[in-house]
Amino acid sequence: MSAAFRQRELREQFPIVTAHPESAYLDSAATSQKPRAVLEAVQTYLTTSNANAGRGAYPWANRTTELVEGTRDRVKEFLGDPGPDHSTVHFTSGTTEGLRTVARDWLVPYLNDGDEILVPFADHRANLDPWVEAQRLLAARGIRVHLRGLPYQAVSGDYDHRALGDLVGPRTRFVAATHVHHVYGGDMNVHRIRAAVGPDVPICLDAAQSVGHLSVDLADPGLDVDFVVFSGHKAMALPGSGAVWARNARGPALRPAGWQGTPNTVGIVSLRAALDWLDMAGPDRIADWTAGLTTRLTDRLRHLAPYEILGCPTSLAADSVLPATQRRHGIVTFRHQDIPSDDLGFILYSHGLMVRADSLCQAGAGEKDGSVRVSLHVYNTVEEIDRLLTVLASLA
Ligand code: PMP
Repeated sequence: MSAAFRQRELREQFPIVTAHPESAYLDSAATSQKPRAVLEAVQTYLTTSNANAGRGAYPWANRTTELVEGTRDRVKEFLGDPGPDHSTVHFTSGTTEGLRTVARDWLVPYLNDGDEILVPFADHRANLDPWVEAQRLLAARGIRVHLRGLPYQAVSGDYDHRALGDLVGPRTRFVAATHVHHVYGGDMNVHRIRAAVGPDVPICLDAAQSVGHLSVDLADPGLDVDFVVFSGHKAMALPGSGAVWARNARGPALRPAGWQGTPNTVGIVSLRAALDWLDMAGPDRIADWTAGLTTRLTDRLRHLAPYEILGCPTSLAADSVLPATQRRHGIVTFRHQDIPSDDLGFILYSHGLMVRADSLCQAGAGEKDGSVRVSLHVYNTVEEIDRLLTVLASLA
């Protein structure tokens, strides 16, 4: 079966996509569309066993408890967790809450006066604010912790691992990093972060843009991290779903503080169905498909004079010489030299093309830098990319 044929079959499984052939959804980095299997799993759950988890002595409640607990195991399995008996999965509403949980409930009690942590200053602000907040909470208790910026290299679209190595010292106790950048789409080569910081420093990975888009395999020695935090809603599950996976090996186990209340059972049910669907579709095949579309887009767009593609120019070189990790993963952000982003977004939408215009929640960036982001998933097609390019070329 050819890749294109298989993709068509997968695309057919997204009711919102097939119901709107005149539109092209190009905003999957914000949230993904949902396959029928996920919608059906939610409907089945709500019409056959809806109850609260762990609170009842009747089959619906027991079934709900099983679904919630089983989904923890499913998350571990999906991530290729090599030590599932020692790790923890904590459900959240998404990456923002997940990173905040790691910061507040794990990092704050873990740090001592004079410790240093490395955090990304040019990534999503969801992966900066919690660490700043942790620093503030500790300062209020008289514990001073230093935040150092993970050095970012615009040319490669990756962290500067050599400069990172120079920043690491005996007081470095924690690193927060991103797996795939939400504006530039670059893979941040986690194995090089581990090599730079050494074997003992816990790494927390914001995997919001990688889970569901490419293989995130903890059995791979190149992905030796301690926390993987992601949003279910960007990975085919419902809004309000997400998880933190914690290895519990370097430092104490993750134990979210306080009474957790009723879990988002429907979100968790949807997450389980989404992970099943993603495994069926194949994360590697999804990554190959979106990489092909991305290359098709950037190869044309970089020759259209009024457009500037933002970030990682090396990824625009002839892609045959680039290792896969240096390519953009389905995310291309660009601007037109004369057309403001809101107008460009509006023009594209008048052609049925749904993109993200400005305000990409990047730490340190202004609200408006004139950019438009195209972000892709497995349901996007070559025809959609060509339609987008035709409209963009007509504005050149
Ligand atoms: N990190 C990254 C890299 C993201 O792209 C996003 C969402 N755009 C987030 C964190 C926040 O995710 P959520 O809104 O689901 O909490």
